[in-house]
Amino acid sequence: MISLTKKIEFEAAHRLSNYQGSCSGIHGHTYKLAATFIGPINPDTDMILDFKTLKSILQLSVLDPLDHALILKENPENRRIFSAYTGKTTWMESEPTSERMIEWVAIRITALLPTTIELIELQLYETSRSFTTWKNNKGYFYLLLFLMYF
Ligand SMILES: [Zn+2]
Repeated sequence: MISLTKKIEFEAAHRLSNYQGSCSGIHGHTYKLAATFIGPINPDTDMILDFKTLKSILQLSVLDPLDHALILKENPENRRIFSAYTGKTTWMESEPTSERMIEWVAIRITALLPTTIELIELQLYETSRSFTTWKNNKGYFYLLLFLMYF
């Protein structure tokens, strides 16, 4: 089984509005995201997917909304605090924790993938030593089937 992994980085600010401590203040991270995909090798191109195509998908789904953005939970408190702010802001339904951001990113990447390609894993680094991992259980189910039968 061959997988493809593409890594990207983005700068973003966020705050956790339901948090007692320093993370309730606006602060930034250099986020690092590694996205891993599986799919059949196309016999015409001998590729699963061109890395350039993956780059475009990650640009649209992740970098356009999140790079150099202020990421906030959509709630009355944040709307009041940031009512005068006109910079790039991405509003989320939940607090912009790594756990929720990685779920958010997984949905957006998956929506742009060709039907033959499956996102199986994401790792989102908030710092060099703190990261979350998202795994597509369906992808691992197919991987298991593949290993059992081939
Ligand atoms: Zn943070």
